[in-house]
Amino acid sequence: MHVLIVGGGLGGLSLAQCLRKQGISFEIFERDADADARFQGWAIGIHTIISQLEEAFPDDMPGLKEATNHLDPLDLPAQMGLYYPGRPRLGIQDTPEHPIVRSERRRLRDWLATNLDIQWGKRVKSIEHDDNGVSVFFEDGTSAKGDLLVGADGIKSVVREHLLQKPSSELLQLVPLAAIVGEVTLSGEAFKRQLALGHSAYIFVSPDLGFWNFGGLHHALPDGVSGRHYWMFMHPDPKVADPDHWLQTATQQEKLDYVLKAVSKMPEKFREVFELTPASGVKKEPHIWRDLELESLPAGRVILVGDAAHAMTPFRGEGGYHTFIDTLKLSKILGKLDVTDIAAVKAAVAEYNEEMLERGTDAVRSSRNEQSASKTKDTKSKVVSAMQHVKPMPEQEIILEARA
Ligand SMILES: Cc1cc2nc3c(=O)[nH]c(=O)nc-3n(C[C@H](O)[C@H](O)[C@H](O)COP(=O)(O)OP(=O)(O)OC[C@H]3O[C@@H](n4cnc5c(N)ncnc54)[C@H](O)[C@@H]3O)c2cc1C
Repeated sequence: MHVLIVGGGLGGLSLAQCLRKQGISFEIFERDADADARFQGWAIGIHTIISQLEEAFPDDMPGLKEATNHLDPLDLPAQMGLYYPGRPRLGIQDTPEHPIVRSERRRLRDWLATNLDIQWGKRVKSIEHDDNGVSVFFEDGTSAKGDLLVGADGIKSVVREHLLQKPSSELLQLVPLAAIVGEVTLSGEAFKRQLALGHSAYIFVSPDLGFWNFGGLHHALPDGVSGRHYWMFMHPDPKVADPDHWLQTATQQEKLDYVLKAVSKMPEKFREVFELTPASGVKKEPHIWRDLELESLPAGRVILVGDAAHAMTPFRGEGGYHTFIDTLKLSKILGKLDVTDIAAVKAAVAEYNEEMLERGTDAVRSSRNEQSASKTKDTKSKVVSAMQHVKPMPEQEIILEARA
């Protein structure tokens, strides 16, 4: 069996590691010219399936936490704080019973790429497939042949377009939220105050003020007393994708001024991260969320994993989690498959698709509704983060130690 994997992100690389462990032949094709070509994002929580991943991946991989922990070198557990109106401080944190690793995205990708031969600069242009095999053609004029092709090419998947013969613009749904995103480096007492809100990240929801904020640590810095932080200020806005929306052309200073005005009624400790952000730290590009619900997929030699099949908003921190589940499940199926028997291929892929789409679509819907005003105003509704119901979490003093 030879498997062609399109996309060297979280899904493509984790599938490749599972196949490497099983000795299954594969190639990975990534459109980017190299590992530095694109910002990989800030940080992502990995939980519930850490031991399954370690079991499914080859033994030459370093430990996930040692390789990717965004809090390194601080001696603090991964922790998410949630601040909802009318409730005590809620949260979840890394414990021996419920391990959570919050991974810095670039380090996570490097970890997932351990001992893999990624073919860079291979942007898929078209695909041909029938019951006998699959061929993929790249923009650089080259091509490859295999028995199966896995589309792990993210939210705007070209593989999905080929499989469904529908453009992404017809399938992706707008999430009616305006978002302004900022980044800032904090040190000393200001860094400690941000960590106290949630070592890894926190969500502040305020339906009465009309917005909510996700504040996160991208990563701690080697000095042990500073870190890079990011925030996403969001509020409902059904017109966010209109070409003449003010966020399409607003300057960084205009966006920051807008946020500072909106947050002026927040308690001081939640305002601080915005007030310390320079205009140059505000993202220039407008940020528009879209998600994807697919009812069904054809079963054959072309298969989807991850965002290509079920892109979701990050409000429950589950997109990457479901991508890993897809690759764990698919790799087990491939390990037992006779690819020369097309009936067996179709049956196995149909079974995979059914479970994957039901699980993924549920997560897409739950993620979209997680911060809805009706849900966050209901002080009895259950809040889920990292697949756990969050619990009251008392505030703790943060003590940092400067490193040489
Ligand atoms: C701001 C933000 C925060 C998030 N936080 C979390 C979190 O805390 N927890 C969580 O579980 N999930 C989170 N997610 C979701 C998570 O990032 C995604 O679900 C996950 O990255 C999906 O993996 P993927 O491999 O399917 O797609 P991607 O990671 O997008 O990878 C797709 C890859 O395919 C490549 N590619 C695309 N087109 C082509 C082509 N034509 N040819 C070749 N290669 C191609 C791309 O360059 C890319 O490398 C977050 C997402 C966002 C946007």
